[in-house]
Amino acid sequence: MAEFRWKTIDDGGSEPALFGVDELVTPVRGTGRMSDLEFLHVAAKRILNRVPTGSRAPTNWTINVYRGCSHACVFCFARPTHEYLGLNLGEDFDRKIVVKINAVERVRAELADPRWTNEPVAMGTNTDPYQRAEAKYRLTRGVIEALAERGTPFSILTKSPLVTRDLDLIAAAAKTTDVRVDFSVGTLDQRVWRATEPGSPNPRLRIEAIRRLAERGIRTGALIAPVLPALSDSAQQLREVIDAVRNAGGEVHGLGPLYLRPGTREHFLSWLADYDPALHADYLRRYADSDYAPERYLNLVHARAGLTRRHRGRYAARSQPE
Ligand code: SF4
Repeated sequence: MAEFRWKTIDDGGSEPALFGVDELVTPVRGTGRMSDLEFLHVAAKRILNRVPTGSRAPTNWTINVYRGCSHACVFCFARPTHEYLGLNLGEDFDRKIVVKINAVERVRAELADPRWTNEPVAMGTNTDPYQRAEAKYRLTRGVIEALAERGTPFSILTKSPLVTRDLDLIAAAAKTTDVRVDFSVGTLDQRVWRATEPGSPNPRLRIEAIRRLAERGIRTGALIAPVLPALSDSAQQLREVIDAVRNAGGEVHGLGPLYLRPGTREHFLSWLADYDPALHADYLRRYADSDYAPERYLNLVHARAGLTRRHRGRYAARSQPE
């Protein structure tokens, strides 16, 4: 059966890579289904991914057991990585989820390597480790068990309260190693959430998950990302998220404005043209010269939120590639 790999740092493009060259996978027989989702099984050659040099990721090592994401966020920067084997970055990214079915077996083997130095491992740096597939495959849970047994520090970033299914396991791991669980909460505005993250759990449930984690003494909080100009960036909208996170016992890690890398740019702007043509024209102007929001906009939203740029901490680059 053919071997293939994701777009990686050595593809020669000018864009930052999302994955390192270790991300070789082989298709294996078998698929799965869940309502409107299709799961494509692959075997990964390696599961611990060394982050490419120059990356903005918070750690040197990441694990991503799924590719594609049923949360289907219209602004997702990981979309372009789905363009292989005939899969596209639009509906296929949302509905055809690639599952590394040997993830637990691989991580156990790699952690047993005497050269493994127990550096921190981040999960959720690209696609969501607690997306709907995890309810069926439980691979993230298996990886956490392996990391905890090895005493490897780990962090999780997710949009799903499904992570609380593993609360006992995470709490036990937190007693012996450095653990944190954070959430991406771009907005609590129900209209904006429904429009821009059509497959993700309600962000109010994420706040409740923060509360449950904090009550168990697990370090937790949220990154407010992406902040969408004229959609979720008013002072009231930003303060609502900050207050909710803090009142739940979580830490606010900062703001991450929308980042439109090629591929994501076309997908997002096509969606916006239908959703709000006037706003589409506004975004074309805002993002005419760069994939990134300008510095003055960063300063503006921080001021509106009552945060200083010092808050651009651990996950400041979460709305940008590793
Ligand atoms: S939850 Fe994250 S990985 Fe999943 S679609 Fe949304 S932005 Fe992309």
